[in-house]
Amino acid sequence: MQSLYDLNYEQMGDFAQSMRWKRFRGHQIFQWLYRERVTDVDAMTNLSKETRSILKERFVIDPLKLVKKQVSHDGTTKFLFQTEDGSLLESVMMVFDYGRSVCVSSQVGCNMGCAFCASGLTKKRRDLTSGEMVAQFLNIQRELDKEDQRLSHIVVMGTGEPFDNYENVMNFLATVNHDRGLGIGSRHITISTCGVVPRIYEFADEHTQYNLAVSLHAPNDELRSRLMPINKAYPLSELMKAIRYYGQENNRRLTFEYILLKGINDQPQHARQLAKLLHGLNAYVNLIPYNSVDEKQFKSVTREAAMVFYDLLMKNHVRCTIRKEHGQDIDAACGQLRINEIKKGLGQ
Ligand code: SAH
Repeated sequence: MQSLYDLNYEQMGDFAQSMRWKRFRGHQIFQWLYRERVTDVDAMTNLSKETRSILKERFVIDPLKLVKKQVSHDGTTKFLFQTEDGSLLESVMMVFDYGRSVCVSSQVGCNMGCAFCASGLTKKRRDLTSGEMVAQFLNIQRELDKEDQRLSHIVVMGTGEPFDNYENVMNFLATVNHDRGLGIGSRHITISTCGVVPRIYEFADEHTQYNLAVSLHAPNDELRSRLMPINKAYPLSELMKAIRYYGQENNRRLTFEYILLKGINDQPQHARQLAKLLHGLNAYVNLIPYNSVDEKQFKSVTREAAMVFYDLLMKNHVRCTIRKEHGQDIDAACGQLRINEIKKGLGQ
């Protein structure tokens, strides 16, 4: 059944009108969902009994069930959810000095097939609906309510490729960003893509002010195509052209993600190639320690090797940071918790 979380503010008003209710009814329902955060239609006490029963016939509120929670000693918490059709998905909450961030999944499994990633170990079962993404946020916020804490940031960096589920992701962000919705400022929202070029143009033209992060992981086509099959469809020249267009249209700093894989993309020549590739862009590179995945051979570099790579980039005028590791004592790698639970036969 459809979830009320699937409808953004405008769509809720449209729905109310289509029922020959006042548009204002949509506004009221939205307030109940996101201001009061009710999970039962009958709690919407300013709606008539009849209106409520129509809503209950057509919609659920929360489409997810929380099935597992793993808490790390550093506060990072992984949540495993199950959808109504039995799919499993995971979300992560991370604690930073600037606030609490939730990493949201956009698909069940992933078709991008990146060589190092646990998410692609199972093919995409389906796209997540926008309501299922909203529900990841709200379920975690409900857990945080118990500690009087709130989520302040969102990264769409969980399982799935957000630009392979563009419309639902944008719809989800419209609700979380709306000041009558969850009110998360656009500058606190980041979408990460492996480089689906046509969607980068589309996103650039929308001028949303959300941050864009691009998973690069290699500075030349030969290596990138080996690690990330998407590079065969959209090689670096096309990707960089799209990114430059985004940079012209949106005066925002761009983040590039680069996992340092031991013996693969961590050599001095890679750092120099990377600096050349990013020359002239308002870019910032996030060097990521690799979270090992049982099924994969890749290894992370040592902290010292990461520092050498970092120094070389800085010397070549590329701003960068080495990402702090989170949740090392729980199934940290993207998609790893879900895969482990599928192996145990809990779901799909
Ligand atoms: N599909 C999108 C978003 C999901 S992946 C994308 O590719 O950007 C989010 C980030 O985590 C990507 O940069 C991805 O390459 C990285 N990642 C995947 N597996 C990882 C692992 N085992 N260790 C560290 N980072 C990983």
